[in-house]
Amino acid sequence: MAGFIHSRLKASTPPQLRLRISPKAETILRGGHPWLFADSLRETNRDGRTGELAVIYDRKDCFLGIGLFDPASPIRVRMLHAGKPVKLDRAWWSKHLAQTLERRSTLFDKQTTGYRLCNGESDGWPGFIIDRYDSTLVLKLYTAAWFPRLDEIASLLHEQIPHERIVLRLSRNIQATAQTAGLADGQIFRGTPLHDPVVFLESGLRFEADVLRGQKTGFFLDQRENRKLVESHARGRHVLNAFSFSGGFSLYAARGGARSVTDLDISAHALESSRKNFALNPSVTKCPHEFVKADAFEWLKEGPPFDLVILDPPSLAKKESERDGAIQAYGRLASCGIHRLRPDGILVAASCSAHVSASEFFDIIRNAAQESGRKFQELHITSHPPDHPATFPEANYLKCIHLGF
Ligand code: SAH
Repeated sequence: MAGFIHSRLKASTPPQLRLRISPKAETILRGGHPWLFADSLRETNRDGRTGELAVIYDRKDCFLGIGLFDPASPIRVRMLHAGKPVKLDRAWWSKHLAQTLERRSTLFDKQTTGYRLCNGESDGWPGFIIDRYDSTLVLKLYTAAWFPRLDEIASLLHEQIPHERIVLRLSRNIQATAQTAGLADGQIFRGTPLHDPVVFLESGLRFEADVLRGQKTGFFLDQRENRKLVESHARGRHVLNAFSFSGGFSLYAARGGARSVTDLDISAHALESSRKNFALNPSVTKCPHEFVKADAFEWLKEGPPFDLVILDPPSLAKKESERDGAIQAYGRLASCGIHRLRPDGILVAASCSAHVSASEFFDIIRNAAQESGRKFQELHITSHPPDHPATFPEANYLKCIHLGF
């Protein structure tokens, strides 16, 4: 590669990693997209190391931005800053964190102590999540590029937000690299040990979250707003919460005055967690609740009727090739769910598959409703809650539609 930029640093310090990229990638970065793929790199002054800062230049050697280099990922650089040249020193990181935390400062009152503090790319922290569960902070990393920065980030968190401990969670694809860096999924990175799930508040309800081993960071914090809507419609209804996980929707429905709540999940562990969550909230245990361990796709084909059916399956299209199958599966689920509904029933259908767009998903559910031959109206259409901002297309995964029949 041509040594297109001369470094003035001492010979012992490697020169700043500098990259030139394809014209198409330039346009994409200028449009605010946070990812630079390996095949869009055109020139580099040397090989980059995991987690070092790469400075990106355009065709005319003008500064475009700075990102985190990851030689092991097809997303070779994750952008941290674009625009005018800056130095990403401790003061920059401190301000960056303060601004991220500030965006949540007015979102929640004391009744909600579990929420997302930092939502990755969409908050300017690519591949880096911070969830707060009361006094436990959970960092979830999707790239090894953050490993060299963890000590500094932990020290900034210590300065800016009171907490008892920091738990580290790692996506599967970086767990082997983590081992070589002395890090592990579920480790207590800072603070006091933890062996059990933590308990936190969401809209005044108490929930446990298995932050060490659970899915995501232990709880589906992204469904808070949809749960509130379910609570507002639940009075006097028999409610089915399909794909219930730890019972998030169920507890809101019970508090909203549901006549009964049924949790349906394929995982005994998830149902046990829901049972514990009911037990944590004496005010809702009066509501009759049942737990069904079954494959929802099968169980929904026949069974008792309900007045409110919630369908919140796991992602059915984790990659583009699974899209068609997912579209069919969403349709089948919705048809079965509508079939279970009594007159005046409500269907709540959610999707967390980024590969199925919101408009596609809503059309699938509307089609299923039309094919049922029943009259229906759209009660609510929702997307990401404010603590889970999505600022670019790939980040936009969550959508939910509430239909009244
Ligand atoms: N609605 C939940 C989150 C759902 S996560 C909440 O608000 O917290 C998806 C859940 O679907 C997981 O608990 C998983 O165990 C369950 N699951 C996955 N496949 C399933 C299937 N075929 N039938 C029933 N449950 C399933």
